[in-house]
Amino acid sequence: MLECCQKIQFDHGIRRILVVEDDLINREILSLMLRDTYDILIAETGKQALELLESDYGTLSLVLLDLNLPDMKGVDILGRIKGNALTARLPVIVMTADQNAEVECLTLGATDFISKPYPKQEIVLARIRRTIEQFEDRDIIRWTERDQLTGLYNREFFYRYAAQHDEHHPEEPTDAIVLDINHFHMVNERYGKEFGDRVLRLVAEKLRAKVSDSDGIVCRKEDDTFLIYCLHRSDYGQILDGVCMQMETDYQIRARMGVYPDVDRGIDMERRFDRAKQAADAVKNSYSQTVGFYDNAMHEKELYLEQLLEDFHTAIREKQFTVFYQPKFDVRPDEPVLCSTEALARWRHPKLGLISPGVFIPLFEKNGLIRELDSFVWREAVAQIRTWEERLGRLIPVSVNVSRIDLNDPPLLKILEKTVDEAGIGRESILLEITESAYTDNAEQIINVVKSLRESGFFIEMDDFGTGFSSLNMITTLPIDALKLDIQFIRTAFRDRKDTRLLETVIRLAQSLGLSTIAEGVETEEQMLTLKALGCDVVQGYYFSKPLPADEFEAFAREKCRWPGN
Ligand code: C2E
Ligand code: MG
Ligand code: MG
Repeated sequence: MLECCQKIQFDHGIRRILVVEDDLINREILSLMLRDTYDILIAETGKQALELLESDYGTLSLVLLDLNLPDMKGVDILGRIKGNALTARLPVIVMTADQNAEVECLTLGATDFISKPYPKQEIVLARIRRTIEQFEDRDIIRWTERDQLTGLYNREFFYRYAAQHDEHHPEEPTDAIVLDINHFHMVNERYGKEFGDRVLRLVAEKLRAKVSDSDGIVCRKEDDTFLIYCLHRSDYGQILDGVCMQMETDYQIRARMGVYPDVDRGIDMERRFDRAKQAADAVKNSYSQTVGFYDNAMHEKELYLEQLLEDFHTAIREKQFTVFYQPKFDVRPDEPVLCSTEALARWRHPKLGLISPGVFIPLFEKNGLIRELDSFVWREAVAQIRTWEERLGRLIPVSVNVSRIDLNDPPLLKILEKTVDEAGIGRESILLEITESAYTDNAEQIINVVKSLRESGFFIEMDDFGTGFSSLNMITTLPIDALKLDIQFIRTAFRDRKDTRLLETVIRLAQSLGLSTIAEGVETEEQMLTLKALGCDVVQGYYFSKPLPADEFEAFAREKCRWPGN
């Protein structure tokens, strides 16, 4: 708190006024008039006024501003108040003996005047009360449309104002832009939330200032994502450079931008920004390119994915989805033995041909449709277990993939239990593959769900191990039975300069925790033999077989596999 700032009275029910006045006598008179009704902060200079505005703007209801200050002109302070998104909402009453200053002050946004020498106390109080009341009525509306941290529009109001922007500029090409700060969660973690908030306010302020010349509006969509809607321009690289500041710590703000130029006004606002977001995501992992533009290829892809979404329900109804099976071999015995198989979804689209899950799974995860597809795959898998049991005279356990989205679905356990119970097979015949990154999403809740699945008797494999960010410490406490090493693990270990030390360490770690290890994506005999020598239990990959349709898998199982005891 500044030394000169006397806090005369403070009470939450009482409105707080900032009095900016250098003259001692005038300050005393004003204090006497106001102090029974208001809480007063006093600044004697322009500099102190700006400091108080920065630190206390959220608690202020009004500024009483003298125009003649020793260090700054009152009109400059007024300009600063009105030019900053955070303080622009504050009403300012100017106190002056100079009638000529009134027009300039009104133009700059002053709400009212009090002449000097001051009129009677009742008049001063009445003017202040009326101004504050008007401001608070407006403020109720305004706070709901503004993000409290940055003073920018919030998303909902932003879309409305963007639509108004279209009305004001019916013919002019307009751009939708998304800006994301890189690794922002690290900023909060490393430097604290207050610093993070300051970064967000700075970025907000810079963006607002930069696009105001093309009639741009800015919003903070969530966390560290900003949206901009402005008349078409071509200097986005410069705007981004302006935002990427070096802070006083060693932290340098870095961000990426996606631009959807000359938007199609036939599609809704949200979709325009989805396109900008796609463009931003396209440069996510690029060091050299930080501004991405929505282009034709993205448009084609969007149409393709839209078609897939549209066709989903027909596809389920018409059984266009089928399940392929890829064998897993236990490599511990002298000769590898088929021990289970993984169910992998395929879509035989009547027009688009065979579609890989790499394309449709992420899409369905975004839209929640994955639940329906996964339930379908699980039902198919358990039915297949029964069929093979009858035809091959042997039970082949099947592992199914459980998406992170399924894990957020409360009835998951019931659905899975019902699926296996109705087919009359034991829980141990179904292995659940849950990708490693699911555990980091919402760790505690996910862990509880997985625990309940395991307690119910399902066998849990952590899929794609090595792609998420689980700490070794976390692995020791997770409710899992097996680690399934991601294909990249194998690829990295068997590159030109073979280096299997990491593989070895992970396999040892798993062993020490009583977990079995499964290697996926094994393509050569050398890889298989090395993994076996390192103590890996199960191997899956093209070396043994690609994923096969059910009937081909059955033939494969009959032909190539020697059952133990056969
Ligand atoms: P995943 O569960 O990690 O499955 C392994 C993927 O690696 C499969 O791709 C498989 O075909 C492929 N693969 C297996 N061996 C080799 C090999 O030796 N070399 C190479 N290059 N690739 C190999 P696929 O079938 O395209 O599946 C991709 C991903 O889609 C799966 O990864 C899984 O995450 C997801 N997925 C597939 N089916 C389903 C499903 O029914 N439900 C859910 N939720 N996800 C599924
Ligand atoms: Mg899998
Ligand atoms: Mg995998």
